[in-house]
Amino acid sequence: MTIPTETHAIRFAQTGGPEVMRWEKVKLEAPKPGEITIENKACGLNFIDTYHRSGLYPLALPSGLGLEGCGIVRAVGDGVSALKVGDRVAYCAAPAGAYAEWRNYPADKAVKVPDAIDDKTAAAMMLQGMTTEYLIRRTYPVKAGDWVLFHAAAGGVGSIAVQWLKHLGATVIGTAGGAEKCAKAKALGADHVIDYRAEDWVKRVREITDGKGVHVVYDGVGKDTCIPSMDCLRPRGYLVTFGNASGPVPAIEPLTLSQKGSIFLTRPTLAAYTGTRAELELSAHAVMDVVAKGIVRIAVNHTYPLKDAAQAHRDLEGRKTTGSVVLLP
Ligand code: NDP
Repeated sequence: MTIPTETHAIRFAQTGGPEVMRWEKVKLEAPKPGEITIENKACGLNFIDTYHRSGLYPLALPSGLGLEGCGIVRAVGDGVSALKVGDRVAYCAAPAGAYAEWRNYPADKAVKVPDAIDDKTAAAMMLQGMTTEYLIRRTYPVKAGDWVLFHAAAGGVGSIAVQWLKHLGATVIGTAGGAEKCAKAKALGADHVIDYRAEDWVKRVREITDGKGVHVVYDGVGKDTCIPSMDCLRPRGYLVTFGNASGPVPAIEPLTLSQKGSIFLTRPTLAAYTGTRAELELSAHAVMDVVAKGIVRIAVNHTYPLKDAAQAHRDLEGRKTTGSVVLLP
């Protein structure tokens, strides 16, 4: 196959709203040593892409956007031995630039995808699936019988987490915005769902747990939910704040953790849990295993042409999506 010397990608030169994203013609260089050239078949949309675009997580500009994709290896640079031309791979780490028809990428951050998993599923499952993996198996290792509160349970990470938590034997309380999203979370297996836009959700969690509180709260919503979530925990419970969908969480005094019952607070990132090749493979293979076995179904509920990524960002930030969103080159 002929490899093009030019391709199209979404790029941005200044931070801001979705309007800063541009569909541009860009040069495709030969892969450098250690790199592969990938023809992307599908790209995953993640909330972190909006933080890069807005500047909450700064990137050097101008920059490509997007961390996640699935595609075919079309060329390999010097020193790449683990992958070959024709392999189907998925990836979800820096450098940003996944929103592209073709791209070069470090070979040691890509993993092969089994035939049983299609391109869209693979593009959607890596970042949100590996995040779920490290949150529920390695940040606070959830055990059968644990009570878990998971915010935004109908979202990308949330939809995967609810299914995986049920498989681990936890009792899951999921929050979501509106009746339709609550119904989705329930259908995924959540034992209890709370519409946190309409109900006093802290009170409801205390009622559902007979006043005891949950063992762990996973909170990707951030500003609106993190602090009140402390009141949903039992003594020595874990508050895992892992995202900023509603904005960054304000400062928390260590003394507050003591007053709330000697609770634990952590603010993890996927990069810190998949920093070595061994950890990346451990996490990716665990995700592929639960997906291939049908334990977790990746709900790709929305697809957009890649060039319309700005609209996908508007819909994600406007809370209009459920499950995972995939962009198609
Ligand atoms: P989601 O598909 O879950 O979308 C975010 C959801 O958050 C929305 O659908 C919405 O659900 C809810 N939400 C609540 N308040 C707001 C608000 N003010 N604006 C927008 N959304 C809001 O996204 P992802 O699955 O991609 O990511 C979920 C979270 O996990 C994000 O915060 C992300 O940054 C974080 N994350 C963190 C990682 C890490 O390693 N630390 C890795 C991956 C993701 P509803 O309408 O039901 O409230």
